[in-house]
Amino acid sequence: MKADMPFKLPIFECGRVWLVGAGPGDPGLLTLHGLNAIQQADYILYDALVDKACLDYAKEGCVLEYVGKRGGQASPHQTEINTLMVELARKNFRVLRLKGGDPFVFGRGGEEGLALEKAGIPFWVIPGVTAGIAGPTYAGIPITHRTVSQAVTFLTGHGADGDLPKTFDWQAIAHGAQILIFYMALRHIKEIAKRLIAAGRAGDEVVTFISNATTPRQKILVSTLHCVANSNVASTIKAPTIVVVGQTINLTNANLNVFEGDQR
Ligand code: SAH
Repeated sequence: MKADMPFKLPIFECGRVWLVGAGPGDPGLLTLHGLNAIQQADYILYDALVDKACLDYAKEGCVLEYVGKRGGQASPHQTEINTLMVELARKNFRVLRLKGGDPFVFGRGGEEGLALEKAGIPFWVIPGVTAGIAGPTYAGIPITHRTVSQAVTFLTGHGADGDLPKTFDWQAIAHGAQILIFYMALRHIKEIAKRLIAAGRAGDEVVTFISNATTPRQKILVSTLHCVANSNVASTIKAPTIVVVGQTINLTNANLNVFEGDQR
């Protein structure tokens, strides 16, 4: 092995904000850019879904500030987080906004980017592995499979007002792709299943719930659209959960070796 990295990771300059995706849980899914950012940051503002092990890479003296939900209470308002980022950057700190999954996938990263742009703060967005991709993969579900699934749709089950998004065209959603991947869908899952069946998806279609995906607490529950629509099967599941509607091939029970690899 060569001694140095084959490419140079960037220097985190003072007075800048980096919005970084930490991935869905397993710290091993952090990108090299993400790790490099954590190692240089002066301030890390992190969310509830960020695995704490990622924070162990922070340098001595780095301030770790939790800005996620606290024991069921509401998280700090988005505008408070935006203001904090701007203030810290103006004080010339290297500010890392560490978010679960990918910052721009149902993560309000766009709102934070707009606030930084408006304040004239230079920033960079580092993508992360999103839960809607890593979750199915760790659960043994290839979301595309040549002969079975050529299109995938990512959706949220939770609009800005807490209801199902009102803009959804359920006919288009039901027929647009073989695999549907829902974030934040537990609260309205019965309604979602009913609407998909009403729009033409088969009642016996497989629905897979993957909670705490990519962590040692990962749990998988397999059901059908009919069962989800007409029973309380989903009430046993806890957030965070990704819900996959549809199936390609099934490796769910295969020996995936996800959490048991050699400890190096
Ligand atoms: N930006 C994040 C998504 C934030 S929205 C990303 O790209 O992954 C929060 C939702 O993401 C949760 O309600 C859940 O649906 C999903 N989620 C995040 N982490 C998860 C995990 N480890 N396991 C299952 N679902 C997860």
